[in-house]
Amino acid sequence: MYPANHSQSRDLYQRALKSLPGGNTRTTVYMKPFPIYAASGAGCRVRDVDGNEYIDCINNFTSLIHGHAHPALIEAATKQLALGSAFGMPTESEVELAELLTARLPSVDHVRFCNSGTEAVMMALKAARAYTGRPKIAKCEGAYHGSYDYAEVSLDPTPAAWGGNAPVSVAYAKGTPDNVLADVVTIPFNDVEAAVSLIREHGPELACVLVDPMPNRAGLVPADRAYVEALRQVTREVGALLVFDEVITFRLGYEGAQGLWGIDPDLTTLGKIIGGGFPVGAIAGGKKFMSVFDPSSGKPALPHGGTFSANPVTMRAGLAAMKLLDTAAYSRLDRIGTAVRDGINAAFRKTGVAGTAVGLGSLLKIHFTDRNVRDYRSAYLSEMEAKRLAVFTTRLLNRGILVASYGLMALSLPMTDADVDTIVKAAAESLEEVAA
Ligand code: PLP
Repeated sequence: MYPANHSQSRDLYQRALKSLPGGNTRTTVYMKPFPIYAASGAGCRVRDVDGNEYIDCINNFTSLIHGHAHPALIEAATKQLALGSAFGMPTESEVELAELLTARLPSVDHVRFCNSGTEAVMMALKAARAYTGRPKIAKCEGAYHGSYDYAEVSLDPTPAAWGGNAPVSVAYAKGTPDNVLADVVTIPFNDVEAAVSLIREHGPELACVLVDPMPNRAGLVPADRAYVEALRQVTREVGALLVFDEVITFRLGYEGAQGLWGIDPDLTTLGKIIGGGFPVGAIAGGKKFMSVFDPSSGKPALPHGGTFSANPVTMRAGLAAMKLLDTAAYSRLDRIGTAVRDGINAAFRKTGVAGTAVGLGSLLKIHFTDRNVRDYRSAYLSEMEAKRLAVFTTRLLNRGILVASYGLMALSLPMTDADVDTIVKAAAESLEEVAA
């Protein structure tokens, strides 16, 4: 499978099998016959434990927008480490990062930090329930929001479970309680009429509608403006909160996807890039919604702590990372993203393989289909498409380009124009092998 030498990775995996289930800690990084173990990273490149080098288009699943080991982030984190890595007291760093985020996001007055996107989504859903006093949440079929039970519902229903046109709430993980399924309304992505009708139907019980404006697992297709506008309008109509999951899409622009779409959600979840490479999450939103966390008048409606929430090393690295992301940085990311998408789409046309590269800004995803991909169902891979994708990602890996197994690519600022050309050339060559 791997033409390069990977004996150290193979040995490490054998060791890992003895102390980790299936040798694994993150399902997302598992691959057969064994995963390739990272040793170090610098800029847009990663070196594995056998000394092989790759251009990294995974970037820790989009969290590394400045690539690896950026000097400004190292300086920020190590300065804080020397001052102490964690306190049972607040620090100025959390105030500064909250100030930066509230200045960038017009919909946000207040921010609350936590340790992951999963936790941010969980707390946002709990906040919506606490604020409205209602039990149910609505989410889009196929959209990934981390591993809170409610957010996982209908993450990967198979065609056998689709049950006609209307999405159904299907458990993702074994052990999901039935009452979780009963409290999640699954709506179709990018289908205004069906989504609005389901939200109206469950309206009086709905605490919130959770939406990722460009859901990675459901195809990485941007939401139609009309769709998010309809969600904004109908949530106001039924008295539910609109929650934007921007854990990934905050990467798309200075004001995130909400700035690009011109929508003010009630709550926003953040993560990934705002931690400068360290574990992070945040719930953000209008003051009245965020007041459920406020302890200043006694026990809050929604108490929330977390030993490592607002950790000062994360906050300092996050601040350094965010300060580097000015509008010029986003323009560059848009430019290189367009170049890679255009290059891969040209290669699809040239080879005659059915497929497309979709996405926005620095994010793209490869689909091996000539269907018009608009939502989870149209993005759903047939067996043949899944095989083609596996060949493509493996051939890219053999050419020294790391992409996620499900076809996601996240670019980073250290990538030069020459790196972009290398990625496009490797993708074109790999597509020719898929065609053969
Ligand atoms: N929400 C979205 C849109 C995500 O893509 C992810 C992770 O990829 C999460 C939430 C969960 O974030 P984390 O992996 O930090 O828990």
